[in-house]
Amino acid sequence: MDFDINSRIDIFLGDITSVSCDAAVNAANSSLSGGGGVDGAIHKAAGRKLYEKCSEIIKKIGTLKPGEAVITPAYEMKTASNIIHTVGPFWKGGNFKEREVLSSCYENSLKIAADKKFDRVAFPAISTGVYFYPYKEAFDAAYETVSRFLKKNEFPKKVIFVFYEKSAFEYAKKKTGL
Ligand code: ADP
Repeated sequence: MDFDINSRIDIFLGDITSVSCDAAVNAANSSLSGGGGVDGAIHKAAGRKLYEKCSEIIKKIGTLKPGEAVITPAYEMKTASNIIHTVGPFWKGGNFKEREVLSSCYENSLKIAADKKFDRVAFPAISTGVYFYPYKEAFDAAYETVSRFLKKNEFPKKVIFVFYEKSAFEYAKKKTGL
């Protein structure tokens, strides 16, 4: 496939729960128990059934390891039909396979989306909040992984990078030229 990958990528500044998509990706924790940041916003929008589904999954699999991803419905969340939960790496300075694990988050989430033939998938800036991954390095890894995946796969048709912080959004804008 030879086409301009940027035509399949969007960047957006705002709340991921306001982005219409087939799947919103959640920067979850290993116990899928909800929390603050984007995880809290997604759980709040999706409601109680999401907590129940997540604890059901954890009962089966134990924990979700960094880099892995699982899908659930989005229940009460009006803008998305599904949630793809992935656990980002905790930033420890960069020599602990952080980039590899972060790339796996994007790759494994995209594999699920491709398998389901989703059109639109929205990603938050995984790990750049309380997991302390520097936002520039995080976007470099995310953009590279997503571009590589889209070149090889027809689905998802579109990936939306959602930023909550203006500085990260501006960096992505500059880097992609979008
Ligand atoms: P992590 O534990 O992976 O670092 P956080 O939720 O702490 O996850 O932060 C990840 C990124 O998501 C941060 O850049 C944060 O600013 C951003 N964020 C927080 N709330 C939202 C939201 N409602 N929509 C989109 N991004 C959000």
